[in-house]
Amino acid sequence: MALAPLSHVVSDRTTCWLLGDQLNPDLDVLDAADDVLLIEAHGFADRKPYHAHKLTLVFSAMRHFRDELRDRGRDVTYVRAESFGEGLDEFLAERGGGEVGDGGGDSDGGGDGDGPRLRLMRPASHGAGERLRELVAERGGTLELVDNELFWTTPADWRAWAGEEGTEIGADGAADRTYRQENWYRHVRRETGVLMDGEEPVGGEWNYDDLNQETPPDDWEPPARPAFEPDDLTRETHAWVCERFDTWGNDSLDEFAWPVTREAALDALDRFVREGLPAFGRYEDAMVGGEPFLSHSVLSPMINLGLLDPHEPVRAVERAYEERGVEPGAYDPAEHGEFDAGAAATSLDDFDGGGTDGGGAASSGEGAEEETGAAADEEPAPVPLNAAEGFIRQVIGWREFVRHVYREAMPELADANRLAQSRELPPAYWDGDTDMRCLSEAVGHVREYGYAHHIERLMVLSNFALVYGVDPAELNEWFHLGFVDAYHWVTTPNVVAMGSFGTDVLSSKPYASSGSYVNRMSDHCADCRYAVSRTTGEGACPFNALYWDFLKENEETLRGTGRMGLMYSHVDGKDEEEWESIRERAERVRELAADGEL
Ligand SMILES: Cc1cc2nc3c(=O)[nH]c(=O)nc-3n(C[C@H](O)[C@H](O)[C@H](O)COP(=O)(O)OP(=O)(O)OC[C@H]3O[C@@H](n4cnc5c(N)ncnc54)[C@H](O)[C@@H]3O)c2cc1C
Ligand code: SF4
Repeated sequence: MALAPLSHVVSDRTTCWLLGDQLNPDLDVLDAADDVLLIEAHGFADRKPYHAHKLTLVFSAMRHFRDELRDRGRDVTYVRAESFGEGLDEFLAERGGGEVGDGGGDSDGGGDGDGPRLRLMRPASHGAGERLRELVAERGGTLELVDNELFWTTPADWRAWAGEEGTEIGADGAADRTYRQENWYRHVRRETGVLMDGEEPVGGEWNYDDLNQETPPDDWEPPARPAFEPDDLTRETHAWVCERFDTWGNDSLDEFAWPVTREAALDALDRFVREGLPAFGRYEDAMVGGEPFLSHSVLSPMINLGLLDPHEPVRAVERAYEERGVEPGAYDPAEHGEFDAGAAATSLDDFDGGGTDGGGAASSGEGAEEETGAAADEEPAPVPLNAAEGFIRQVIGWREFVRHVYREAMPELADANRLAQSRELPPAYWDGDTDMRCLSEAVGHVREYGYAHHIERLMVLSNFALVYGVDPAELNEWFHLGFVDAYHWVTTPNVVAMGSFGTDVLSSKPYASSGSYVNRMSDHCADCRYAVSRTTGEGACPFNALYWDFLKENEETLRGTGRMGLMYSHVDGKDEEEWESIRERAERVRELAADGEL
């Protein structure tokens, strides 16, 4: 490869290189930088069929970010290239006035300090920091890696909690050291003081999950998802994405409502805190036909792009609880009917941790649709403690936790396969064509929006793949391609460890269940062609036979693990005749699924 001519490069400047998931104009790392580099690298999307909305979101957010930085007076070099290497060549050529890739580079590859100086927040993806450092060094420059501000906690914070000893995942998927989220979560609450009353958790309990497992009544209407009308730049980006790449999923912009600017992301946060948060806890685990979003925040795409600093949603929710908080479970969204949009905003102005560029309760730079409903002086609904605590746990508990477990357990984590599962994903994951109501609903949400909420991800999409026997790495790739919020650092622990039990590094038992869980938490089964009450025979719910067969097949690994005693007491209660029918039905279900006929 021809390297850019370094003889032209002026080296007394420090360039802040920001990646496509570091799109925050208020970062400290920008303060001391002379200029900014953004490389829009496309090669990854040539190799696999990503969701059209995911590519549109990432590239449009990058382009808007470039424009915002320039509006703020920043000197930004924005390079569109196949790879980071080519992007760096172009940047160096532009810097030094040479032609792109015109050769003649005099680099010794050692990064002797005379070349360009770049600074980068450590990428979340395993090994990426070192790879990028090498790319820069090959071109005679230096790349300084600094802590990534877009996580709440640092690797040093994790070490202080976990101690010096790390973990290693063996060839059998067993981790020599395991971590538990609840312990981490309590530690972070103590350290940060979030939802703390001195040394004690606000309300006296650390966790109110037992109040967060209800399903809404039929006549309950979730708040409308904040919709951000695509502007010209997003439309242009989307048209280019559709022409340039082979994509998967909905390739129309009709359902594309994601914020692509920081201002719009802050607006989405504000709307969630006013409208979604009151019911977030109670209905957090529910699934309702035709309702992909319910009271979920739908903020992960923006947090993962850096448009929101994770401090912001946590502080906003904590503040809302201070202002509108009630006892755990004291507010019942079902009794209060549809919630009025447009009620008085919980301003973000006073929150620390990132600033809002003078625009706390932001109006959308992306043309947020007009809010409808009540006048601005109406009171927003109360925030029960189980909602505030439940949300905060997702961010400072789960999000931070999986990020550190990923750092600790890579690279083995990516290929961990404790149960030696090797089946291919059934075609229904790609085309959504199945009579299983729960699965077609969840896959449909992913195809349509690049989004499904947590319980659909865990208890339908992963659960089915788990009991069916899918290779965890293949499932991980499917999540990675299909979800707008998916990045390797976050899908890998969630899909391989949590969803597939490819390793026990973060949970002591698999999240496997029969159809009864789906039946309890959703309204799907009533409208399904399959009978959730039956395990065997034609027409029986596919989850049921697969679940029992999965337990039996993996008995050697699972019987003694975690809290599997109760499950295996049921296994022990079945006679040989019953097992015969279960195996037969499981076999049939697998055949039908593999043939796309389930
Ligand atoms: C199999 C599987 C795959 C997943 N893949 C992704 C992924 O690609 N990207 C992603 O961001 N999250 C992923 N998650 C975690 C979680 O499901 C999503 O963060 C959440 O559904 C995003 O929707 P939301 O913003 O409406 O979340 P909410 O329900 O409103 O939760 C609030 C926030 O908490 C954070 N959060 C909650 N749980 C997790 C978690 N387990 N890991 C990381 N962050 C969490 C997210 O930032 C989220 O925005 C996955 C979970 C599972 C079980
Ligand atoms: S009956 Fe089974 S397949 Fe159908 S919706 Fe219920 S859990 Fe899903």
